[in-house]
Amino acid sequence: MPYVASFDIGTTAAKGVLVARDGTIHAEVTMTVETHYGEAGQVEQSPEQWWQAVLSICQRWWENGISPNDVAMISFSGQMQDCIPIDEAGRPVRPAILYSDGRAARQAEQIKAFVSEAELRRWTGNHLDGSMTFPKLLWLKEKEPEQYDRTHAVLISSKDFVIRKLTGACVTDPTSAATTGMMDLENRSWLAALVERCGIRLELLPTLLAADEIAGEVTDQAALETGFAAGTPVLCGVGDAGATTVGAGVTEIGSMYVYLGTTGWAAMPSERVTGKAAGLFHLAHLPKDLLIAIAPLSNAGNAHAWAARVFADDPQSAGSEAYARLEQLMKSCSPHLQDAYFLPYLHGERCPVQDPHASGCYLGLRPTTTRGQMARAVLEGVAMSIRQVRDLLAGANSVEQMTLIGGGSRSAVWNQLLADVCNTRVVVPENAAYLPSLGSAAAAFVRLGWAASYADFADKHLKRQPLAVYQPNPQHRPVYEQRYQTFLQLYPALKPLFGNL
Ligand code: ADP
Repeated sequence: MPYVASFDIGTTAAKGVLVARDGTIHAEVTMTVETHYGEAGQVEQSPEQWWQAVLSICQRWWENGISPNDVAMISFSGQMQDCIPIDEAGRPVRPAILYSDGRAARQAEQIKAFVSEAELRRWTGNHLDGSMTFPKLLWLKEKEPEQYDRTHAVLISSKDFVIRKLTGACVTDPTSAATTGMMDLENRSWLAALVERCGIRLELLPTLLAADEIAGEVTDQAALETGFAAGTPVLCGVGDAGATTVGAGVTEIGSMYVYLGTTGWAAMPSERVTGKAAGLFHLAHLPKDLLIAIAPLSNAGNAHAWAARVFADDPQSAGSEAYARLEQLMKSCSPHLQDAYFLPYLHGERCPVQDPHASGCYLGLRPTTTRGQMARAVLEGVAMSIRQVRDLLAGANSVEQMTLIGGGSRSAVWNQLLADVCNTRVVVPENAAYLPSLGSAAAAFVRLGWAASYADFADKHLKRQPLAVYQPNPQHRPVYEQRYQTFLQLYPALKPLFGNL
């Protein structure tokens, strides 16, 4: 049976799955990856460990009787916004500097001496800060000149390194490149003049290929090491945010998903950079005429975790039992008897408002207010925030359905609250852990002709996956509408106080 081999080289683990032509997932193998945290905020990984993880995954497949000849194509997703300098032979000249490492803040300011922030935003669709690859390259040149001189190419995503090992090609995809600070988002090409003006050698940058373009074939050497058949085609693949978006079935205008992890984001396809709203960022989507507009949320599952700790009688931890107790407490509350409002900015906020000083606040507490109502107000507050970013992202477009992924979607009460507050159907895929792998497999399906388009892949292989569906309750609509209008007034009213706390 032919398969697509789909690897997701994440920050905590590398995962490999084989996806059959009917969209079913086989032979999942996961290998953990180590991260080195330095005292000054450095976050680094060894690229060779990514490769070792891929070798171990392949070995497991062959031991389990998979035939390398059944692998029709290899595709990838991976962490984005890294800085991975390699020498001419493809060896790392130093550890990879990860996206979460903000060491190049000063170099980001240096770049802004060459180009205004407004211009950068117009070209790249995003703001520039010290976590991005471009300033990290300047950091490398300034702080480690020997390594910079030995650098033959700089790769952006963990998967780009594995592709270099498999094929010898230095490539990256426009989704990964969108948060480097060096890509013209509209044309999906490097900002060559700017890069050179800032003193970086242009030939260091990898070739930009679409996710569904072939980067190369497995070389004889790589075939010896991995066990893949020499000549197996290898796709460029896509950065993990793009893969997750496709895996969530969000490939057309009007579709949306929300990732409710510890922090979170809401994302929606868009035809152009949404200039209206500060705090959004933009990536190239896999369909070539679309972008992904993303609203980052500082408060998501972490607010849920706080409510579980405070209201579910478990001051030490927010383990599964605390979440289950919280769910019971909240279930018995009716929105019609809810007095309490909660502004959910426990961790400051990035979107819908940009305010690191904002904090969590209750309003409307009464002598009758219960723990369940207070807890429910927290999750409702995050749901209201999500409605606000939905409106920012969607503009004039209507949103028919919201897909929820991430650990927070395990709360049925929260899922229903989101459906009610946003007045939108909410769906929760049951195999959310596989979404990035399915998203990168989609690129191979398109290239192999197994799917006519990304939307066709979503229709055939994602929508028939098991889903939990939550419909908005029409009886609750007026009360949530009114509560939303009140919620919108909370932040502007309280904003002047936050700086004084
Ligand atoms: P990340 O990978 O970003 O840390 P996850 O996707 O694991 O995040 O989501 C973490 C969130 O999942 C928690 O903050 C909480 O909202 C939710 N969560 C975790 N465990 C449970 C549970 N047993 N029941 C309901 N929700 C849970």
